[in-house]
Amino acid sequence: MSEIRTIDKVCLIIDTCVWLNMGKTSKELIDKLNYVMYENKVFLLIPEQIKTEWNRHKHSKIVTDIENNIKGSIKNSKKILDHVSNDDEARVFLEIIKKVEDRKDSIIQSISEESIFKIDLMMASSRHSHTILPTPTVIEQVLDWGLSQKKPFQQNKNSTGDALIILSALEYLKENQFTKAIFVTANYRDFSSPDPKIIHSDLEPLFNEVGLEYSINIAEVINEIHENALSQEIVNDMYPRYYGVNSFECPECKIDMNGYYRLGQFGLTYHYQCPQCRKLIDTGEEMDG
Ligand SMILES: [Zn+2]
Repeated sequence: MSEIRTIDKVCLIIDTCVWLNMGKTSKELIDKLNYVMYENKVFLLIPEQIKTEWNRHKHSKIVTDIENNIKGSIKNSKKILDHVSNDDEARVFLEIIKKVEDRKDSIIQSISEESIFKIDLMMASSRHSHTILPTPTVIEQVLDWGLSQKKPFQQNKNSTGDALIILSALEYLKENQFTKAIFVTANYRDFSSPDPKIIHSDLEPLFNEVGLEYSINIAEVINEIHENALSQEIVNDMYPRYYGVNSFECPECKIDMNGYYRLGQFGLTYHYQCPQCRKLIDTGEEMDG
């Protein structure tokens, strides 16, 4: 029997969707995570699958999101012109916007590259992180889960990837004991029980076995490790946009809308549609990381 190693750090397993969200939204969040890591308080456990997904999506998803944000800001700022009656002032204002529009590509490039670079560095740190490759036992378990359509992954396109992530982490935690271990995901539709803050009941015994905790908010986790590291505003921002909403009532017909993944403006995202008037709401939540 192998001896259990104990490590005096908080072990974080951060799902791909969370890395992507951090890259898209918050420079401060990336810096604070970096800070607690180099303070020797945090150890990143990275199943290889997360690295593969991150490398596959980091450029396209982060760049697209930052681009949409800048486009949105430009569009919104133009509304100010409704309140400007002086032609000269309006011209100056439009010139400034034009300058931003012209430099848009290089702005997007520098914001996204900085975030991606910092996250790549964290993932590569040999002192503060560890990448785990799936062992033959894990691969066998993943196949088994796929064949038995084990919940909660049965309706998820990315089920093999999710199973690889969870099962590799669980195996590692059996032999390496940390002060605390937390799995952080934004994908609560696949991982949570009806209460989004609680892990799905099918996974709960496996999590409990190795003392693995569950969170859907990375900012909250960082604040737990280092008190008041991040503002409440950032914590709130990191909750999924439609957090806690499991059913949607059609504003017109007052009946429940149906939820499903559908190809929208920004790829495959979770939508709600009214069965009666066909009204469609795009939550913008992506299917996989
Ligand atoms: Zn309706």
